[in-house]
Amino acid sequence: MTARILSGKAFAQAFKDDARARAEALARAHGVTPGLAVVLVGSDAASQVYVRNKDKACAEVGLYSEVVRMPESTTKAELIGKIESLNASEKIHGILVQLPLPGGLHAHEAEILEHIDPAKDVDGFHPVNMGKLVLGIPGLTPCTPTGCVRMLEHAGIPIDGRRAVIVGRSNIVGKPMLHLLLQKHATVTICHSHTKDLAAITREADILVAAVGRPHFITADMVKPGAAVIDVGINRLAPDEEHPKGKLVGDVDFDAVCEVAGAITPVPGGVGLLTVAMLMQNVVRAAEMQVR
Ligand code: NAP
Repeated sequence: MTARILSGKAFAQAFKDDARARAEALARAHGVTPGLAVVLVGSDAASQVYVRNKDKACAEVGLYSEVVRMPESTTKAELIGKIESLNASEKIHGILVQLPLPGGLHAHEAEILEHIDPAKDVDGFHPVNMGKLVLGIPGLTPCTPTGCVRMLEHAGIPIDGRRAVIVGRSNIVGKPMLHLLLQKHATVTICHSHTKDLAAITREADILVAAVGRPHFITADMVKPGAAVIDVGINRLAPDEEHPKGKLVGDVDFDAVCEVAGAITPVPGGVGLLTVAMLMQNVVRAAEMQVR
């Protein structure tokens, strides 16, 4: 068997097209252009790239966007003050603080993020939005797992009644994924570094989600024939001649798992592309909820 490749590009484009159409409808009905503010503290190179991509996506979808750059020396009080002024801004419907925060701010990330108005929390990480997700109350949900579940639906991969296994229990991927799949009536198991006999559990999965952060962690013998395998991992291998910056790989041993799985997301070109597209959806959704 050779797995169907679930290319993130096509799904991401569909999600962005939908965000654009809804943004245009909001402009027509309410004269409102959904706006995103991305707060970038310090000068981390990877964060600069992520922020540029988000800004570009906003332009592509027709959203207003602001990048708020703050120096590495920014204090907790200054950053919270900036968040509060964005909470009050009528032009801004979504606020995202680019993580990780540098230096001494890093230890206060959770406390700082709690100052974002939950209605503008387009990352979906605020305790209010996480609580709503657990309770099944509509709200803003984290972009990466939401993108994965939407992709499964768009691809016509059944979720209802299926066994889903998630490897990884982080607050940004594994835990929200658990609740999103549960809402779609999957029977969900979540595994982590203390899980015993992991392969026996992953082999039961009709839908297997890898969010571990370890290259090639999911091997072919861990996958049920025909399963849908969603590789959330993004890992950079050590540089070699062919890849001077280090090759990007997922958590799944892609070539070998392709021979067993029914469908699989590649890395790069899979889940990573969905995340920014879902952010655009969340900004539009936040604006829709705020004009109501
Ligand atoms: P994380 O916070 O580091 O969590 C990793 C999880 O993997 C933890 O729950 C950990 O268990 C579990 N784990 C580690 N070793 C394990 C083992 N041997 N067996 C079973 N479970 C094990 O990671 P994350 O933030 O969720 O990110 C995971 C990966 O996804 C990373 O590669 C990250 O770069 C990528 N990512 C991609 C996107 C995207 O847009 N595509 C977005 C977010 C993250 P414990 O809880 O027991 O420690």
